[in-house]
Amino acid sequence: MLYAQVVLPLAQPMYTFSLDEGLGVQVGDAVVVQFGSSRYYTGIVWSISDQRPDFPRIKPILLRPYSSPLLTEAMQRLWEWIADYYMCTLGEVMRMALPSLTKPSASSLSELNERSIEPPTERYIALAEELRSEEALLEYNKRYCRRAPRRTELLDAIALAIKEQGGADGFIPRRLLNIETQHLLSLRKSNLIIEERRLVEHNSTTSHFLRPTLSEAQSEALNKIYEAHSQQRVALLHGVTGSGKTEIYIHLIADALTQGRDVLLLVPEIVITSQLVERLEQIFEGHITTYHSQLTALRRGQTFLRLTTSTGGELIVGVRSSIFLPMHSTGLIIVDEEHDINYKQSDVAPRYNARDCAVIMGRIYGANVVLGSATPSLESYVNGQTGKYAYVELTERWGEGVLPEVVVSDTIRAVKRGERKTHFNLDLLNDIARTLSAGDQAILFQNRRGYSPYIQCRTCGYSPRCPHCNVTLTQHKKTSRMECHYCGYTMPIPSVCPNCNIQDMGLMGFGTERAAEEISRLFPEARVERLDGDTSTSESAFKRIVHRFENHEADILVGTQIVTKGFDFGGVSTVGILNADNLLSTPDFRASERAFQLMMQVAGRAGRRNDRGRVIIQTSQPKHPVIQQVASGDYRAMALTELNERKAFCYPPYSHLTRILIRHTDYNTLHRAAHALGDTLRQKFGSRIMGPVSSSLEMLRGEHRAEILLKIEAGASMQRARTLLRQALDNYDTKNEYKGIKIDVDVDCW
Ligand code: ADP
Ligand code: ZN
Repeated sequence: MLYAQVVLPLAQPMYTFSLDEGLGVQVGDAVVVQFGSSRYYTGIVWSISDQRPDFPRIKPILLRPYSSPLLTEAMQRLWEWIADYYMCTLGEVMRMALPSLTKPSASSLSELNERSIEPPTERYIALAEELRSEEALLEYNKRYCRRAPRRTELLDAIALAIKEQGGADGFIPRRLLNIETQHLLSLRKSNLIIEERRLVEHNSTTSHFLRPTLSEAQSEALNKIYEAHSQQRVALLHGVTGSGKTEIYIHLIADALTQGRDVLLLVPEIVITSQLVERLEQIFEGHITTYHSQLTALRRGQTFLRLTTSTGGELIVGVRSSIFLPMHSTGLIIVDEEHDINYKQSDVAPRYNARDCAVIMGRIYGANVVLGSATPSLESYVNGQTGKYAYVELTERWGEGVLPEVVVSDTIRAVKRGERKTHFNLDLLNDIARTLSAGDQAILFQNRRGYSPYIQCRTCGYSPRCPHCNVTLTQHKKTSRMECHYCGYTMPIPSVCPNCNIQDMGLMGFGTERAAEEISRLFPEARVERLDGDTSTSESAFKRIVHRFENHEADILVGTQIVTKGFDFGGVSTVGILNADNLLSTPDFRASERAFQLMMQVAGRAGRRNDRGRVIIQTSQPKHPVIQQVASGDYRAMALTELNERKAFCYPPYSHLTRILIRHTDYNTLHRAAHALGDTLRQKFGSRIMGPVSSSLEMLRGEHRAEILLKIEAGASMQRARTLLRQALDNYDTKNEYKGIKIDVDVDCW
């Protein structure tokens, strides 16, 4: 008898099940087991041994639902690294890593079977056995060319297609035949062709890819990347917006695919990347698979299963969770916009950063790694400067493109001089007017959606707050409701103050909804579109707005940070940053870095094809160093200033920060528990422990929240710190005194 250690999709350690050799189960396979008295789970076989463990009763593995393992050995090593580094169980990694339909659980086997899916298949066509030789087909056609000329034409066409594109077995995927279904059906009825369903395969034949011609600067950068990869080093590609990083990626991808190896291209968000995907599709058609949360659950599950049997030569373009997709002989991993906050999963375990995982995967999978950005994270920048990564720079836009001119517009001065209408300084309005009369387009960026971020009683100062999260509610005009942007709670907009009953509620600040309304009023002839979480609730809605703007069916695009990323719109000559103060004032050690990145990204949308674009930043702090650094486009200055601060206060990249979030519905229990944990941790870590303090979100969805920060300076052993932390948390009693306390650990938190 054999025994298998199985990972179940639970926050639990592994369990052992007995294994009937007849099932042919291997390590990495999905298996169905019964766990608990009435629950059936799909788990993953982690290891197999012939040693019977010391338990009285061992349940058997019941089923092996897929004929190929879901995990390769390299994927196992990745899961293990993630579980260890981000301090969670393999079960929690599994929950995240496998699409839901590939790992059904249910209260009975039949229910579980109903929920399971199969790898995707497609139709293959071959000529009937008797017609496969050229002579036989010729003979047949000669005989029937009078009576059924159409039919013989079809057979000839199929024979030709099979000869050119079909497999050695005489079959060809149906989709490659340019023949109407009804014709194929009639050929099949006459037994002239046969049809089979087979697993979907990608175009694994290595094709010739059309590579763009690179500029001199781009070729030089590419060569530096080759050199880095020949030394097994990660390459950090720091290229200004519009420098053509994509073109360099295309060369690298083509190299790897030509060798039959897999490529993973990570992007921060998929819908935002639709332009990039379209560009890649032109070149890598038939090799490209996209993966993101907007796909249906079925599609995600089938994509995963299809990749388990792939033979290589796949280009996967996807969001952070794509690091978990099955890959075989991975040649290249690219992380585009590597600084992006979306690479970090913060809300549920594993709280991983896909960018950092990509670097680890490079080692585990033996793949080359490229991190690309116009504004690299300071972590990566330091790695580039110290030589841990190869630092590759592109300082100019491709072709005739020049970087936009940045104008800082002082809001306080504008108000004093009467040069401000609603939320727009005249500097910006004049520029928009000029842009519109030249037939160009403008993008206006405001970091908040909704109409007004909060409303306040002008008499007593009261602002309605979310009863579950204790944050101010945002007013939305379209729905006529106040909305919590954390939990979705809504309530009607009060006309009188709920506190003092006086009818004097005022709208404070402005979001994209209000900005769009006001700009429409100021430029009634302009066509205004809005792009934010409220207008792009689906991929198609998003694409409609983007296409309208792309086709110049809109003149002004108002949006949240969605508009800052990746877009390559030709006609934009003005970009307005409506309130930079918002960005500078977040209480977070990364605030300056993020504000710089955001503003540089949105600035990068201007003047990509026509003459010099202009970026106008409205701010009440025109002298703020970050504003000045954005104005001069000086990444290095920002990095130097910031890194000095980070060093002085021992923040990342000079340390690793781990946040221990403590939650409870009762404020007093939370308070006591957090302090007790703080004391325990302080005994182990001394002054490396900070807090507990209330979280920046003191309350969320009805739970009070406190947090403790653990700061481990660079150079000290994170491994040891994790071990100590794990011990402390394991010993911490969440059963009796602190019943109901929940603790989340976020390693390398944001
Ligand atoms: P980045 O990603 O660095 O911001 P892109 O890759 O989007 O820049 O390139 C900006 C624009 O310049 C795109 O429209 C792209 O097609 C064009 N471009 C860049 N390099 C080349 C090249 N070598 N040949 C043709 N077009 C290029
Ligand atoms: Zn809420």
